[in-house]
Amino acid sequence: MSEHSFTLDGKIIPFTPGQTIIQAAMDAGHYLPYLCYHPDMKAHGSCKVCTVKVGERFIASCTTLAQESLVVESDSAVLHEERLSLIQMLFVEGNHFCPSCEKSGNCQLQATAYDMKMMTPHYPQFFPNRPVDASHPDFLLDTNRCILCSLCVRASRDVDGKNIFGLSGRGIHTRLIVNSASGKLGDTEFSADDKAAKVCPVGAILPKRKGFAVPIGERTYDEKPISVFTAIERKEKT
Ligand code: SF4
Repeated sequence: MSEHSFTLDGKIIPFTPGQTIIQAAMDAGHYLPYLCYHPDMKAHGSCKVCTVKVGERFIASCTTLAQESLVVESDSAVLHEERLSLIQMLFVEGNHFCPSCEKSGNCQLQATAYDMKMMTPHYPQFFPNRPVDASHPDFLLDTNRCILCSLCVRASRDVDGKNIFGLSGRGIHTRLIVNSASGKLGDTEFSADDKAAKVCPVGAILPKRKGFAVPIGERTYDEKPISVFTAIERKEKT
C-alpha cells in the first residue's frame, strides 16, 4: 500500500508520486469517464470529459498530478451535468449515426453517452459534410465521426514512429489530417499492426471487410456499461 493518498468522493485513493489523478483512480478500481485519455499514451487533456473538482477548481484529471491529501470530487450533479453537455456537444458537432455505424457497441462515445443516461443530443445538429477517405486497402477513414481526441496522432507519432496523422486548424476549424503529399491514407505506411489502427474511440478509423464480424448485441459495451469495466479490461480493448 502506497504511503501517499488523496480522497476521491470520500474514498481513499493511494498513489505513487508522478501519477495523475485518473491513473491513481483507475489503479484503485474507480471509474472516471474519459475519451481522449489512454493509459499507454501521454495525456492530451482536450476532451475534458474526465474533469473533476478540487476545491473550487474544475480540472482535467488526466493531466493533473495526484497530491497528498487532495480532496477530489467526481460524483456530483454539477459534474454529471457538465460532462453530459460535453458528450452532447460532441454528438451534434459530428455525424454520429449509431444505428448505421460499424463501431456501435464498441464505441466509447456511444457507451459513455449511455452510461450518462443521455436521452437526446439537446443542441442543434451541425450535420457537417466532411471527407471520407477510402483510399487505403485495409482501412476506412471517416472524419465525420472524428472527435479530435488526437489518440491516433499520438499513437502514430509516439508508439508507431510514423507520424501519419495530425490535427490542423484552430478552434471549431480543427480537423484531422493525414500527413501524405496527397492527404490520403492510402499514400501512407499505415498498417493493421499500428497502435494508431486500434485506438480510435469512435468509428472514424475502421478496418475494411470486418463489418458485423461480431453481431450487434454481443459487442464490448453491449456486454456491460463502460463504467464497470476495469482499467485493465478497457485497456485490452484498444
Ligand atoms: Fe481520435 Fe479517432 Fe479522430 Fe483519431 S480519428 S483523432 S483516434 S476520434
